[in-house]
Amino acid sequence: MPVSSISLIANQTAVALEKARLFSEVQQLAATDSLAGLHNRRHFFELAGHEFERARRYGRPLAAIMLDIDHFKQVNDTYGHTIGDQVLRAVAARCRESLREIDLLGRYGGEEFVAFLPESDLHGARNAAERLRQCVAEAPFDTLRGPVTVTISLGVASFMESCPGLSELLNQADAAMYAAKAAGRNRVVMSRD
Ligand code: GH3
Ligand code: MG
Ligand code: MG
Repeated sequence: MPVSSISLIANQTAVALEKARLFSEVQQLAATDSLAGLHNRRHFFELAGHEFERARRYGRPLAAIMLDIDHFKQVNDTYGHTIGDQVLRAVAARCRESLREIDLLGRYGGEEFVAFLPESDLHGARNAAERLRQCVAEAPFDTLRGPVTVTISLGVASFMESCPGLSELLNQADAAMYAAKAAGRNRVVMSRD
């Protein structure tokens, strides 16, 4: 084969590889939240939907945790939005580390996150939520303006025979999270407490 043909093939291969790399990068960006590096809402719902169906079909345990940073507006007001973003990113990273690999963590809204715990019953989910609460509260987050301490409030709901769908499960976790806020924040409330 002439050298020119070999170099043509090599070039085409390089172009194909670059295309594949870009494609996977775009897919990754589309699924990842720009700020926290977690699943975005849409992608989270897609993955959570699969887990929900699996739990329902095979009668497996499954739990959801909704969590929201306490008084986050004060962090922005005191330190500015850029520092707020740094704290948000650091909270997300710490939460991700505290969960198991099979758990899903998504950004639900501004400073609200949702975790989905396959194979966790209510007891396991309560422990996971308490670990999350502690890992955020126990040490400040380093920012360009120095250490900033925040806490989170968490609501836990588990998938039970009676739970008709994914959105009901998340609504239950959300309602429990608001109960945690009302009860004083920096705490875990179980949906059936
Ligand atoms: P609570 O304890 O009741 O949750 O009080 P809060 O101040 O955290 O709650 P509120 O819903 O009143 O305010 C949420 C704040 O989070 C307001 C908004 O500016 C801020 N926020 C939401 N998304 C982002 C973000 O991406 N970056 C930054 N820096 N702030 C955000
Ligand atoms: Mg908040
Ligand atoms: Mg909020």
